[in-house]
Amino acid sequence: MTTTNPDDRLRCPKDASLMSKVSVGNVVVDHCARCGAMWFDPYELEVAVRTKGAAQDIDHGAAKHQYQWNVYRASELLCPRDHSPLVTVPDSRQAHVQIELCRQCGGVLLDAGELRDLSEFTLSERLKAFLKR
Ligand SMILES: [Zn+2]
Ligand SMILES: [Zn+2]
Repeated sequence: MTTTNPDDRLRCPKDASLMSKVSVGNVVVDHCARCGAMWFDPYELEVAVRTKGAAQDIDHGAAKHQYQWNVYRASELLCPRDHSPLVTVPDSRQAHVQIELCRQCGGVLLDAGELRDLSEFTLSERLKAFLKR
């Protein structure tokens, strides 16, 4: 059961705003102008993290921390694509920083500031390990 927007834009899982399409390298990600959240399909996040300067272009937040992927719980948010419940991966040292994952389609929701942090890590490797569990 998937709701399809006529213009293919997604609704922000946090505030239901229509998200804008933003080019990052050669992919297009969904960006919420209201809260700064970004939605990535799995391959999109990988490309965005690898594209030099991409994070600074679209991510205007400022989160400073490292991610730990060993703790997660069910989120109250729903995947904008398939409406599956997202899984929250909180940072172990800064509990207010969280990444929402969809285990159905592998999409990832980032808050403002999180992409810039993730760019400094080999995120795709960590993500693959996490999703295999
Ligand atoms: Zn939003
Ligand atoms: Zn999904």
